[in-house]
Amino acid sequence: MKILAVNAGSSSLKFQVYEMPEEKVLISGVFERIGIDNSFYTIKLNGEKIRKDASLSNHSVAVGFLTKELLENNIVESLEEIKGVGHRIVQGADKFDKTVIVDDVVEKIISDLSPLAPLHNPAAVVGIKAFREFMPNAVHTAVFDTAFHQTMDEEQYIYALPYEWYTDYSVRKYGAHGTSHKYVSERANEILGRTDTKVVVCHLGNGGSISAVLNGKCIDTSMGFTPNAGIVMGSRCGDIDASIIPYIMKKTGMTPDDIDNAINKKSGLLGISGVSSDSRDVEISAEKGNKRSILAQKIYARRVIDYIARYYCLLGGIDMICFTAGIGENSCLTRKSIIDGLGVYGIKLNEEANETRGKEIMISTKDSKIPCYVIPTNEEVMIARDTYKLVIGK
Ligand code: AMP
Repeated sequence: MKILAVNAGSSSLKFQVYEMPEEKVLISGVFERIGIDNSFYTIKLNGEKIRKDASLSNHSVAVGFLTKELLENNIVESLEEIKGVGHRIVQGADKFDKTVIVDDVVEKIISDLSPLAPLHNPAAVVGIKAFREFMPNAVHTAVFDTAFHQTMDEEQYIYALPYEWYTDYSVRKYGAHGTSHKYVSERANEILGRTDTKVVVCHLGNGGSISAVLNGKCIDTSMGFTPNAGIVMGSRCGDIDASIIPYIMKKTGMTPDDIDNAINKKSGLLGISGVSSDSRDVEISAEKGNKRSILAQKIYARRVIDYIARYYCLLGGIDMICFTAGIGENSCLTRKSIIDGLGVYGIKLNEEANETRGKEIMISTKDSKIPCYVIPTNEEVMIARDTYKLVIGK
């Protein structure tokens, strides 16, 4: 059965077609600069990557090109062969705790949640509408980044703010990257060979979050009301003292939008180093002795260590620490700083194994008290799995 996994951003659209249940990727691609000039798309097929310029005035036009590629490359003879389309949705708030089939009601709820994810949910709705139009007979599903975190207890997700902000304005912790945390923690359980486990997943990408997973269920995560909370990120600040915001607004006359821009786009590794939001650039600059880049790396690792220590207490121990996403899978230096900082728990790094990038491997020594693994994430396959299950269960 052919299942399409879709991730629609405001100006981009990523997709993979899977043969299920084999989980074989038949074709994948990304449409970029949708609605902007110089739009183009790239397709990956049979190990080859092809780039094509195309005028992509909106998502519907991009879906038109996508369907054309599927037919021309003989991925399908007719679009009817695509039995399910899984859509990645950033914000499902407390409305969804699992993947659901999209109907008009679900589509409206996703749209209504846009104030909680202004950059992402509107784009996803545009994507859903376009695919529903082109593939009306397929089962469309919504796979939420927040769903995996819905198992958190109240005491983890309520902020110590006026309670009415929660009841009246839905201000609480929702978390993010849930699909990745779920995939990696499930893989951790497979490696451990049991399900009664205490797993910490460090999703360290341009955005980053850590989660504590007890017996396969998330009990806390570092992202919050928005994806800005928690650890230091590429250009997001993570946890800060909230009073800094009104202080700086009064000092500088910055508006709420200015502040939003500063804490999301000008902070994190970029803000501290002044060099880049990309950890590779910061690493290179630090190697050359740039003091602020060195400081950015130290603060980055420290925050991750702090969260792992916090989750050690919350979980009552840890059976595995997992590293995933761009930095987690590739930055040997960052992993080393983090693991070295956890020495008090009897965790020991296998320096040689840690030099590996981008593939599953144990990076702690055999006598380390807690095993540490790199587990490459795969959000797309989770979307395909959930969608496949809903199609066959229908
Ligand atoms: P993601 O958001 O998961 O795509 O991750 C993006 C982040 O991964 C960026 O900060 C990249 O610099 C980082 N990254 C990717 N490859 C490497 C690498 N080889 N070494 C260090 N950081 C990397």
